[in-house]
Amino acid sequence: MKYDYDLFVIGAGSGGVRAARIASQAGARVAIAEEYRIGGTCVIRGCVPKKLLVYGAEFAQAFADSKGYGWTVHDARFDWPTLRDNVQKEVTRLSGIYTSNLIKAGVTPFEERAELIDAHRVKLVKSGGEFTAGRILIATGGAPQLPDGLPGLELGISSNEAFLLEKLPRNILIVGGGYVALEFANIFHGLGAETRIVHRGDRMLRGFDDDLRAHMHIETERAGIKLTMKTTLTRIVKSGDRLRVTLSNGEHVDTEQVLFAIGRHPNTRGLGLERAGVEVDKYGAVVVDEYSKSSVDSVFAIGDVTNRVNLTPVAIRDGHAFADTIYNNRPTPVDHRNVPSAVFGRPPIGTVGLGEGDARLSHGEVHVYRTNFRPMRNMISGNQERTLMKLVVDARTDVLLGVHIAGEDAPEMAQLAAVAVKAGLTKKQWDSTVALHPTAAEELVLMREKVQSPGSLF
Ligand SMILES: Cc1cc2nc3c(=O)[nH]c(=O)nc-3n(C[C@H](O)[C@H](O)[C@H](O)COP(=O)(O)OP(=O)(O)OC[C@H]3O[C@@H](n4cnc5c(N)ncnc54)[C@H](O)[C@@H]3O)c2cc1C
Repeated sequence: MKYDYDLFVIGAGSGGVRAARIASQAGARVAIAEEYRIGGTCVIRGCVPKKLLVYGAEFAQAFADSKGYGWTVHDARFDWPTLRDNVQKEVTRLSGIYTSNLIKAGVTPFEERAELIDAHRVKLVKSGGEFTAGRILIATGGAPQLPDGLPGLELGISSNEAFLLEKLPRNILIVGGGYVALEFANIFHGLGAETRIVHRGDRMLRGFDDDLRAHMHIETERAGIKLTMKTTLTRIVKSGDRLRVTLSNGEHVDTEQVLFAIGRHPNTRGLGLERAGVEVDKYGAVVVDEYSKSSVDSVFAIGDVTNRVNLTPVAIRDGHAFADTIYNNRPTPVDHRNVPSAVFGRPPIGTVGLGEGDARLSHGEVHVYRTNFRPMRNMISGNQERTLMKLVVDARTDVLLGVHIAGEDAPEMAQLAAVAVKAGLTKKQWDSTVALHPTAAEELVLMREKVQSPGSLF
């Protein structure tokens, strides 16, 4: 049977765009549909604009630190519309590049929502167009989760809206305990808003190494962000031009903004997957095999919608591997182990591999190396922020299982540490590398004494 397209991709984010381009360059006839803006979450309302806001927020600390270095900064003032609009200009520029790269690669873009009619047919919701395709790739990503049923929910915002605020709130209450909550707290705090995080768990950053989590609690509070754990919201009401939030501990908080960052769900609602017989799990994620094939032979899924490792470089890898497997005749499974990740809090985190707790569960006995120090750059500035570095090593094989860093430039360090962990280096090989002085990173190769765990921070 002749199809309109060999491949129809739904969702032009990190994964969908990569898959469409590689498939088209391999000779496939490819279309892609995007319901919001080409580029997807990362480019439009995730990694990229977030990192730009982090850069913007960091000037506050840099100005404070500069005094000890002899600088006097007069009259430093911050203007939110300038930063917001400059970030949006950059986002628009990048979205344009994504679009033109798709077109250059011969992909047909449709800028509207698409849904499945069956395992080989797709409909465009606005224009009503219908197309057949040899294969359909679901690359619809995820969307912010909201606390269903909370009275006054509509008065809050999610990360989607945070980038576009008309004015910077004087104070903000952020709900959630994951990296998005912590990063936005860092951004708003740095830009001058009084910031508080309310989280139902007893500690932030579930899934990260426990020492890192403890360190981030100490440092986040030291930075001036208020943390309220084991607490939820019970109601939000409007009170003049402010919001009155009631917490489960009975407290009332008056704030200008409430931001929900309680997680994300796979974007499969209303997509028509059931019409094609595609299996989803209890969270709505498309269930796929190692080649990203769903329960239906002609339907594949990549990136956040599969809820495996929800990060941009993973979605891109998934998309590339899918296109290589199917259209370049190069079967490529994606290895989702030892993916490095970052949290742009204060200090920032860079981490790769297993945390100590997970390592003990999967490998039994482990050796732990840990150091906690005030870095050189903070000494004469008076900045009290401390750096934590930790290595987790398999006691039996000496293989490095995890590297966890919270400190200035930690994400930059973690990218390179990931090469060592991915390559399966031993601690002995790691230590044979001569230190690079004077850096903070040199401490990573100078940790020789095993420490007792759990750490003293508990
Ligand atoms: C605030 C925030 C910060 C983040 N920071 C980082 C970070 O620092 N580093 C990192 O690696 N990752 C980060 N992420 C995660 C990262 O954005 C995602 O992992 C990545 O975008 C996933 O790519 P994807 O291709 O699976 O989906 P997406 O990039 O989400 O793309 C999916 C696209 O599909 C579209 N779509 C959905 N349904 C339909 C439909 N029916 N028809 C047409 N189009 C549809 C959506 O509009 C979207 O554009 C962040 C996420 C958020 C929210």
